Amino acid sequence: MLGVIILSSKEIERCEKELEDAENTARIGNFGKAAKKYFNAAELCKKVGWDNEAIEALFLAYLYPCNQDAKEGRDLFETESLRYFVQHSYKLPQMKVMAYMPGGLYGEFDTKRLLTEARGILYMELSRKAKTIEHSVKLLEKASDHFLEIGDSDLVFSRYVSCLKRRTTGNYAALECEGHINYIKGSVYIEIDPSKAIGYIMASARAYRAAKLRDVWKGMNKRIEALRATRKCWMCGREAQSTENFEIVKADVGSYFENRLREMKEDMRVIEGKSNIILCKPCYTAIYYEAEKIAKTWYEMAMQVIQALEARVRRLETRR
Ligand SMILES: [Zn+2]
Repeated sequence: MLGVIILSSKEIERCEKELEDAENTARIGNFGKAAKKYFNAAELCKKVGWDNEAIEALFLAYLYPCNQDAKEGRDLFETESLRYFVQHSYKLPQMKVMAYMPGGLYGEFDTKRLLTEARGILYMELSRKAKTIEHSVKLLEKASDHFLEIGDSDLVFSRYVSCLKRRTTGNYAALECEGHINYIKGSVYIEIDPSKAIGYIMASARAYRAAKLRDVWKGMNKRIEALRATRKCWMCGREAQSTENFEIVKADVGSYFENRLREMKEDMRVIEGKSNIILCKPCYTAIYYEAEKIAKTWYEMAMQVIQALEARVRRLETRR
């Protein structure tokens, strides 16, 4: 009986030492090594019946590979450390843990809160690789729900994943997802119905602005401007909306046509000086393909002449 007690007190000592060692290793930022030590510590804790400490140690063992990657500037999604953390630690009961985090952060963290963030990030990253628009939108909606749960608090991992790549909060990350969702939905209509696309892209611009992504917001405004632009085609007279549906091409308009258009009070259809006109996409491409065909015919004719000349030169040379 006495022997058992002595053994277990020795075990306890070993366990305490391993936990302390693991913590010291994490404190100096050697997270990869600390993770391994926490695995050992968790085993020792289980042996002496310290269940809570065992769970905490195990949680840190799963978490710290993320911190190691973050410290070394690696993307937590690419290295899969974030996925590894979620896959293993979600089975553990919810608790508060004291942890060292990337960027010199130390404090008490709620395990559920860390997992919620990691899940949100995984959904957001996966949406970038989704094969269909519907799937991408669904994943972004899930990501947004997770970020909203975190609310105004700062995200811990956002700087170390390429989908966010900045210091941000749960709410701002959710707004960023909303911006992406609306942009994706709008992009479906950019070619077929620019007016409909504008509605979605305006919603995405608003979300990006609210998410404090000024540059993206500005880019969206430019996109909206381009989609709003309408011009009349010089050739067919049809009106075309969105810069994707017309081309500005060089043409000699001259004063005669300028005057005539002025007399008829017609749209000048000339922009950026006298020598540019607007062509709608069908008119432009019709000319383009015809010109290509003509150029090809001329090229083939020229090649035939050159080949004939070459043959003649060769014949002359052999005669010499
Ligand atoms: Zn036209």
